[in-house]
Amino acid sequence: MSLDPILSARLQALEADGLRRILRRIEHVDGVHIRHQGRELLNFASNDYLGLAGHPALAEAAAAAARDWGAGSAASRLISGSLAPHHLLEEALADWLNTGAALAFSSGYAAAIGTIPALVGPEDIVIIDKLTHACCIDAARLSGAQLRVFKHNDLDDLSDILRWADSIQAVQRPNILVVTESIFSMDGHVAPLRELVDLKDRHGAWLMLDEAHATGLFGPRRAGLAHDLGLADRIDIHLGTLGKAVGSAGGFIAGSRTLIDFLIHRARTFLFSTAPVPAAAAAAHAGLDLIRSNAGADRANATWSRANQLASILPGTAAPTSAILPWIIGSETRALATAGLLLDAGFFAPAIRFPTVPRSKARLRFTVSAAHTEEHISRLAAALPQLAA
Ligand SMILES: *Cc1c(COP(=O)(O)O)cnc(C)c1O
Repeated sequence: MSLDPILSARLQALEADGLRRILRRIEHVDGVHIRHQGRELLNFASNDYLGLAGHPALAEAAAAAARDWGAGSAASRLISGSLAPHHLLEEALADWLNTGAALAFSSGYAAAIGTIPALVGPEDIVIIDKLTHACCIDAARLSGAQLRVFKHNDLDDLSDILRWADSIQAVQRPNILVVTESIFSMDGHVAPLRELVDLKDRHGAWLMLDEAHATGLFGPRRAGLAHDLGLADRIDIHLGTLGKAVGSAGGFIAGSRTLIDFLIHRARTFLFSTAPVPAAAAAAHAGLDLIRSNAGADRANATWSRANQLASILPGTAAPTSAILPWIIGSETRALATAGLLLDAGFFAPAIRFPTVPRSKARLRFTVSAAHTEEHISRLAAALPQLAA
């Protein structure tokens, strides 16, 4: 049978389950408004937590880098693509995160996919939180390591699995890598990081921490949750993205100089992929500079104020632990219908469904940004009760 009829049947099955997806073509109006099919909508769906994606300083840095270095990088970093903007960005990242070194990748996804299989293999063990982002799950599978999943944020379960790993350790000496997120992307939950770090240290395991949703929002320099808690130097591998609060695109690993030197040899998404464009690196660098400045502190404070304001009006939501505020609806079709009503009312917060979240845990995922005003949140608050009814 030819390809298209088979795929059509699969797409029809997705449709029947309320899982059919479409790409909405949008235009940007400003930091928080988008235009979709001729209508202006207030956007609660972006991960641009500090409102930097549209900031003139980042756009100008990108434009200047494109003029100075060209639009493309022309090769992988090890061939001839290791341009000054990448090195400057990595030095700034290592300085900000207070690690020996950092390595930029074309995305956070590529950073994870390149790093985990470089560090562990079939003789090793990866232990991962159930709700960890797809990039780390895919990377762990690709590594061929024995994969064990612990219940979300459940230290007892993690402890049991680590004890099991110790019993194997006595015989085979595998390396053990624990992978989790500081702020979980679809729920906004916070990992019990202090206990987690103690636990992995006690068992001699390595910890990879994905701070994609904490970068820019936590800590005195807004370098993430590990920094906020004074645990940064006990995290073996820091994973981050430059595409969310940092306002550009790309991903990074930060850690010891040895870790980074090793990844340059073994991270295949780094070795065999064209370097990120200079404009992206320069914009990310400008984003980092802004985050570390007083203006960055003001923006992070604004984001937290909006998160508090929205949490106080969302059904069933306690005080926010992040800029992510999910409204769990359950049924895929009901979540979809509610998102549709919200769209009709002029607000964009799409339904998040399987496979991004488990089946029957469909939700509207609201994210707030420093670019939202108090009045924006009030407008959403006025529209919500009709939807919840
Ligand atoms: C977005 C995200 C990533 C991937 O980062 P990209 O730069 O978008 O590829 C990794 N982990 C988490 C938790 C994310 O939300």
